[in-house]
Amino acid sequence: MSNIVAIVGRPNVGKSTLFNRLIKQRQAIVDSVSGVTRDRHYGKSDWNGKEFSVIDTGGYAIGSDDIFEGEIRKQVELAIDEADIIVFVVDVEEGITPMDTEVANILRKVKKPVFMAVNKVDNAMRENDAVEFYNLGLGEYHTISSINGGGTGELLDALALKL
Ligand code: GDP
Ligand code: MG
Repeated sequence: MSNIVAIVGRPNVGKSTLFNRLIKQRQAIVDSVSGVTRDRHYGKSDWNGKEFSVIDTGGYAIGSDDIFEGEIRKQVELAIDEADIIVFVVDVEEGITPMDTEVANILRKVKKPVFMAVNKVDNAMRENDAVEFYNLGLGEYHTISSINGGGTGELLDALALKL
C-alpha cells in the first residue's frame, strides 16, 4: 500500500484528534492524559479524489523521561520508514518543547514530504502565537484546529498534491 500518511509528534498535541477527523470515525482513543494512546491506529481516508492510509502513532506508558523520549524517537523513526508523507503535529498552547525540537531534528533530515501542523489554533488570535514554530527549522507550517476542523482542509489540499 502506498500513500501512507503518518501523524507524529509528542503526546498530547492532538494527533489522535486529527486522526479521528481525517478518517471521519472515532477509532483512536483521545484523552487529556499524556501518552494515553498506546497503540498505532490505521485508518483510511480520501481527499480531492486521492485515497490514502493514515497512521496515528501513539504515546506509550511513561516510565521515565528517558524511556519516554526514546519511545517517541522510535515511533517517529518507524513512521518515517513506513510512511510516504509525514504530518508533524505541534501544540500552540504549549509552544515549543524540548521533545518537539528532538522530533524536528530527526524530521529535518528526512527526504519524504513533512508537513508541520500547528494544532489547537482554535481562533485567529492564536495564529500569531504559531509564528514561534518557525524556530524548529522546518519552514512553512499549517495552522489547524483538530477540534473544530479549522485549517484541516487547507492542510489536506497541500498534502493531496504530494499523493
Ligand atoms: P495525542 O496524545 O497527540 O494523540 O493528543 P489527543 O488527540 O489525545 O489530544 C490531547 C488533548 O488535546 C485532548 O484533550 C484533546 O481534546 C485536545 N485537543 C486536540 N486537538 C485540539 C484542538 O485543536 N484544540 C484544542 N483546544 N484542544 C485540542
Ligand atoms: Mg493519541
